[in-house]
Amino acid sequence: MFAIAIDGPAGAGKSSVAKAAARALGFIYVDTGALYRTVALHMLRSGVEPADAEAVEAALAGVAVDLRHAPDGQHVLLCGEDVTDEIRTPAVSMAASAVSAIPAVRKFLFSLQTGMAERYDVIMDGRDIGTVVLPNAQVKVFLTASAEERARRRCREMEQKGTPVDYEQTLREIRQRDEQDMNRETAPLKPAEDSVLLDTSDLDFEGAVQRLLEIVRERS
Ligand code: C5P
Repeated sequence: MFAIAIDGPAGAGKSSVAKAAARALGFIYVDTGALYRTVALHMLRSGVEPADAEAVEAALAGVAVDLRHAPDGQHVLLCGEDVTDEIRTPAVSMAASAVSAIPAVRKFLFSLQTGMAERYDVIMDGRDIGTVVLPNAQVKVFLTASAEERARRRCREMEQKGTPVDYEQTLREIRQRDEQDMNRETAPLKPAEDSVLLDTSDLDFEGAVQRLLEIVRERS
């Protein structure tokens, strides 16, 4: 099996770039952020405070997360219910960042991720894929962009979906998530030592996909 690990901060374009590259390569694209979002959604629905490690850990007993791959991409299931669209709100983003700092949550989602890479050629994106989940991935990329550029992109994306969000608020949330993701004790966001840095601040979407495919070609 061949594995490509893509890590980087929120809103750097990991998912759209990885999805396009997966299509070009015939690989399965695995969005691991969706798994943390699904756990977060369950906690919000159950009235469990996402930063309360003990309460979250206890509530994990009632959670079943599963992934399905359809022609239109990855779907994520929470106890059998397709929550693919519902996990894309700013409230779930913030709750996902909180639950992802809890070691029991990371452990809970670990084998689902490694299991995908054992069965398929994958492009997997997240925060700790090259460092923790797939340390033996053949290609590791740290994909990033400036916080301002990431906030602008997120605003454009939400506007296209018909749910516009405020730029300043989005920028604040992106900075807060970066801070949380980089400074947590368990699996903090950081480039793997053997990763290639791909900064997309000055690249358009096509340029970023082409650069990623070049990196894959150089390494395979
Ligand atoms: O990638 P996305 O923004 O959907 O991820 C939501 C949150 O899940 C991130 O802010 C991060 O805290 C967490 N996450 C993680 N490890 C991953 C993927 C996501 O901690 N591999």
